[in-house]
Order: sequence, then structure tokens, then C-alpha cells
Amino acid sequence: MANVLVFIDNPGQVLKKSSLELLTIARSLGETAVAVNGELHDAAATTLGAYGAAAVYRPSADDLDDYLVAAKAAFVAAAVDKSGATSVLLDNSPEGKEIAARLGIRLSAGVITDVVAVDADGTAHKSVLAGSYATAAKATTPVSVFSVKANSVNPEPAAAPATPETVTVDVPADAAATAARITAREQKVASGRPDLTDARIVVAGGRGLDGDFTPVEELADALGAAVGASRAATDAGWISHDAQVGQTGKVVSPQLYISAGISGAIQQKAGMQTAKVIVAVNKDAESPVFEIADFGIVGDLFKVLPQATAEIKKR
Ligand code: FAD
Repeated sequence: MANVLVFIDNPGQVLKKSSLELLTIARSLGETAVAVNGELHDAAATTLGAYGAAAVYRPSADDLDDYLVAAKAAFVAAAVDKSGATSVLLDNSPEGKEIAARLGIRLSAGVITDVVAVDADGTAHKSVLAGSYATAAKATTPVSVFSVKANSVNPEPAAAPATPETVTVDVPADAAATAARITAREQKVASGRPDLTDARIVVAGGRGLDGDFTPVEELADALGAAVGASRAATDAGWISHDAQVGQTGKVVSPQLYISAGISGAIQQKAGMQTAKVIVAVNKDAESPVFEIADFGIVGDLFKVLPQATAEIKKR
């Protein structure tokens, strides 16, 4: 039996940092089990043990990815029943939040989203309105479901690694879970850059790019960094919405965030203000972005960024 169940969807070879964060929080709440959908590679299974997972619940069905999220919610609900968990932790991604909502209905559980910390007594802390307010909430139901924002805690392996037992969970044949089947998938062309939410360095561009992200992309590639963007840039269609950082985009907490041609609106700050070092490049010395920057360069990004890229490439 476990008190806490973490859901990890298609972990791949190396667990994402956000999954390691969920495991770190879970351990602070009690005995931890993991519900894993998709292939579980040996390296990922070893990491689950290193992060203290006592059990790994696997679905009896191998076609959950053929359906929209409802089938995954049915699996996690069955894993909660089987494990006896009273807390469930998931990613705060749109899919994670939808699964959380469906679990709320299936398990009559209280659901708390956008969580940044959970106390041992189940009180969840949220950062709302672009970080202007911190709120605390606690479910009043026997089972609590939390979707946790990435970069909320530093991942810490367990003091002593566990050897998780594998438990197969029967996913109930359920008309609601299989009501919508995926009929086509298009593989996106891989950029070769690190995942934005996990990246150690992010180079982000805004409206100042004026439609041309080349200087940002070239600097990112020279640094091995991910590319981010303000909403002005994604709304203009200059770069994919996946790159948006901020209140309605991704929350990043890299070691270094380089902001170019971004004014630093509160909604942008909500997604990057916890970066360890912030470097801002803006041609307007009065831009609010300089209030949050550790290092500021007043200048034209079309000159500053290529100079930085050229210098880095020399090393
Ligand atoms: P601007 O504010 O127009 O700033 C462009 C900057 O580029 C200026 O400071 C200018 O001086 C500088 N610049 C121009 N040319 C150059 C040059 N050649 N060299 C150097 N600097 C130059 N925004 C987000 O980013 N993320 C969000 O998640 C988000 N969510 C939102 C949610 C809501 C509900 C709302 C209302 C807004 C949200 N926004 C979000 C939008 C946000 O309010 C700002 O409008 C947006 O962040 C502005 O983007 P920007 O800084 O790129 O553009």
C-alpha cells in the first residue's frame, strides 16, 4: 500500500526533471508509488527506485495512447484504488490538468491545480495571478489530486534507493474512457534543442525580434539552450506556441535566462522570474525588464546577439 501515487506518462529513457520533482514532493508526503503508462526503459525504472518509488503500477492494456486522456485517467483511478493512495500527483501540463479533473470525478476527489508546494498535512500552495498572490488550499475529501507546476522544487534522490515491485492494474473496459480515439498523429520535426521546461539555459525573444527569430535561435544553439518566447511573439506566429513562457505559457527556472526584445510584462515575469541569472537585452533603457534583470544590455538585439554568438563559438 502507498499513500501517494505519482502519474508518469511515457517516461522515455531519461525521466524528465518535472517527474523527478513530483517524486521528490511525493516522498515528503509518505510511501510513494508510481503509475507509469507507456514503455518503461531500464534506466527510467532505475531512476524511479533511486527516487524512492516502492511500487510501479502498470496498465494491463497497452493501447491507452490510442485514446484521448480519458483512458489514462481510468488507469490512474484504478491504480489509486489498488494502491490505496490518498494523494495523487501529476504534471501541471494541459493533459495533466485534464486527467486531474477526470480523476476528481472518478474518485470524488478534491483537485488542486497550479500547485508549487504541498505540506505534509496535504495543504497545497498555489501561486496565482502571475505570482501576485500565494494561496493555500486543502481538499476536504479522502483523496486529493494535485497537479504540480514544473520547477517548483529541486529534485532530490532518496537517501536509500528502493527496489520497486511491479503491479499490473486492470484498466476497466469503460465506454467513457474510450469514447474518443486518436485517428492520426503527426510527428513534429525534432529541433535537437533541450526541452524548454527542463533546460539549464533559455534564450527567449519577444516583439523586438520583429518576425525574425534567427538571432535567438543561433545564440541558443551556440549555448546548447532552449528557445523561449513572449506571447507577443507566439501570437504573431513567429514561433510555435510551445515556446511561450509566462502566465499562460510555460514556467521555466533555468540557471540562465537571456531575454531579448521582451519588455518584461508581469505575465512574462510569471514564467521566468525564478531563473537563477537573468540577462536582458533591450534597446529601451527604461524597459521594465531591467528591473528583474541581473545583467542588462541596452542595445539593438540584432547587433548584441550575433556578437555574443560569435564570441561563444570562438571558445
Ligand atoms: P512588447 O511589450 O511590445 O516589448 C517589446 C520590447 O522589445 C520592448 O521593450 C522594446 O523596447 C524591445 N525592442 C524592440 N526592438 C528591439 C531591438 N531591435 N533590440 C532590442 N530590444 C528591442 N505574455 C507573455 O510573454 N507570456 C504569457 O504567458 C502571457 N500571458 C498573458 C495572459 C494574459 C491574460 C494577458 C492579458 C497577457 C499575457 N501576456 C503574456 C502578454 C503580456 O501582457 C505582454 O503583452 C507581452 O509579454 C509583451 O510581449 P513583448 O515583451 O515581446 O512585447
